[in-house]
Amino acid sequence: MRAVVREALEGLVDEISVDPMGNLIATRRGDGGPRVMVAAHMDEIGFLVRHVDERGFVRVSPVGGVFPRYLPAQRVLVTPSGGGDPMAGVLFESSDMGTPNEETKTPKVEEFFVDLGLPAEVVLAGVTPGDAVTMHRTLERVGDRVIAKALDDRIGLFIIIEVLRSLPRGAVEVIAVGSVQEEIGTRGASVAAHRIPKDVGVAVDTTLARDLPGVDDAKAVTRLGDGVSLKVMDKYQITHRRLLDVVRDLARERDIPHQLEVGLPGGTDAEAIEIAGDGAPAIALSIPSRYGHSASEMCDLGDVAATADLLEAFLRTLTHETLVLDRP
Ligand SMILES: [Zn+2]
Repeated sequence: MRAVVREALEGLVDEISVDPMGNLIATRRGDGGPRVMVAAHMDEIGFLVRHVDERGFVRVSPVGGVFPRYLPAQRVLVTPSGGGDPMAGVLFESSDMGTPNEETKTPKVEEFFVDLGLPAEVVLAGVTPGDAVTMHRTLERVGDRVIAKALDDRIGLFIIIEVLRSLPRGAVEVIAVGSVQEEIGTRGASVAAHRIPKDVGVAVDTTLARDLPGVDDAKAVTRLGDGVSLKVMDKYQITHRRLLDVVRDLARERDIPHQLEVGLPGGTDAEAIEIAGDGAPAIALSIPSRYGHSASEMCDLGDVAATADLLEAFLRTLTHETLVLDRP
């Protein structure tokens, strides 16, 4: 993922480096304007191999917020850390097979195994504890929406790249960060934000859209297709009110469809940026996503465009004056 992002950013920025955590840091120098750290995470939820048994069945441990009920019979890819081609397999669990349509208990991730369909000796020779196991799905476009695994947060990386493509050079310095290990607690962004001098931070990430049958409107968090979501509060952050107002006013002025978001039971890199070092106000611009952390996440391309438009407008218009946030 880092190689893909790096290649896309070459030529759009002045400097690209990788820090000791593995974060990709791409800087476009400005001309005396504010310094803005813009982050999207490169990691995705998944698993690491825990154990291979004598028949070649592979047991896994979760990385990040994996929901067991999304897992049965999904296709996965096991990537050998010692080199060699990724191997496709089926993720399954057999603790209580039941029959179709029968209520069965929800298994734990630890009860799942990967069946690679290969002779045991081949699996035992090629797969070792710590190998990465990821969902194996391609992206599909359906009308004005896309369905894919790991839109969280590939869609955020895409938006940052596209914005750097269309944004003319200006006063603002943009430090674009492809962060690592967001899904296990914003660990990459914490280190990057500590190292990077910045006046303000923006995280571009997906958020929950539960505008679904059987779900109370009050529990939807965001609605797919209603525009970019401005984070007001999630589990780990309350956005600086003045910064929120600045961004919201901008969205209103530019007629960019937007919604306000309270209630995500998780966080984003913005929370790490905000409290790193001496601190900096930070906001998450979120792309509503249905079925988050499943192999079939769904985003609306109008929301994606709105997020890109708002980020670009923010980076175009930001001045030191805008960022005097402590006025009464
Ligand atoms: Zn995310």
